[in-house]
Amino acid sequence: MAGIYIHIPFCKQACHYCDFHFSTSLKKRDKMVDAICKEIVLRKCEIDGEIATIYFGGGTPSLLTNVEVDKILSTVYSTFQISENPEITLEANPDDLTKAKILEFSNSAINRLSIGVQSFFEHDLKLMNRAHNQTEALECIVLAKKHFENISIDLIYGIPEMSSEQWIANIEKALSLNIPHLSCYALTVEPKTALEQFIKKGIVPPVEDDVAQEHHAILIEMTEAAGYDNYEFSNFCKPGWESKNNTAYWQGKPYLGVGPSGHSYDGNQRSWNISNNPIYIKKINDGELPLEREVLSTRDKYNEYVMTRLRTTNGISLKEINENFGLIFSEYLSKQMIQHIDSGLLCVKMDAIIVTKKGKFLSDGIAADLFMINI
Ligand code: SF4
Repeated sequence: MAGIYIHIPFCKQACHYCDFHFSTSLKKRDKMVDAICKEIVLRKCEIDGEIATIYFGGGTPSLLTNVEVDKILSTVYSTFQISENPEITLEANPDDLTKAKILEFSNSAINRLSIGVQSFFEHDLKLMNRAHNQTEALECIVLAKKHFENISIDLIYGIPEMSSEQWIANIEKALSLNIPHLSCYALTVEPKTALEQFIKKGIVPPVEDDVAQEHHAILIEMTEAAGYDNYEFSNFCKPGWESKNNTAYWQGKPYLGVGPSGHSYDGNQRSWNISNNPIYIKKINDGELPLEREVLSTRDKYNEYVMTRLRTTNGISLKEINENFGLIFSEYLSKQMIQHIDSGLLCVKMDAIIVTKKGKFLSDGIAADLFMINI
């Protein structure tokens, strides 16, 4: 089983915190859709087996028309073998999700919407320079629920000046809407973003780690009480509503990422497409793949496995470490984890090493301590 990720590199405006690849000029949209379809065909041989998940990410895929989405999907269907019930997700922004657009998407093969709400409050949305307002954030979910069962929303916590009360109100709003899946991320200050500049100039207060930690603890408590499973550090779902796309990624399943800046993984090597729309289109039209590749060493694969698995409820399987990486890695891991078991941040359950409640927010730092640096 494999997945396809399709990067749609256009946005209406730049959110202040974002360092993803996108252009705010939509002029070359039709040429981009054609190039993405050509890339899918050019890379036909890179996927062996059935496609179980198709994910439109970005950027802002909801800027595409249903005709453009269908064109890409028909190319995927005519190029690869698709499993019986694939999960087909489209990332959407609230300002695009009009009644008509939701209806159009619901008549396509898309069966899951991931909506970039980020906050239900005007102040936060303005601070982040989101293109939607709080009314659109709310209304689009009410409308989307009429046509889609499988809906996820993104929320951001740790926003400067966001009090715990405001964060609680955001979670309460999300829970009251009875959405099966939530993805919640701490605001991070990425280099060369407007947010970084505003903080440097003192226009916006800095993002505080302890505030993010407090917000994360609140999130875990409230979602747990509402019956959600925190199946990965940032992801929460009602039983049975896990994202198949995300789960496959954490399980190390292969995926093909097309479109500018799309990343791919085949089990042994990673590749990434150029993050430049005009060059991407030109190279694809010349029949050339605009990408770079890196072959992963056993150590790279071990480190990635540790990093992703420690963020999930399944944790690190000692059996898998032994089988996939060998004795040197399993002995190294057993030695490194002792300090964190003693301090109550990790525990061993059956075959798995998992983070405890106390260790949850620190999982990336704990993973770094388990990394193999030199071999
Ligand atoms: S809509 Fe998404 S991809 Fe586009 S700028 Fe905002 S956060 Fe980045």
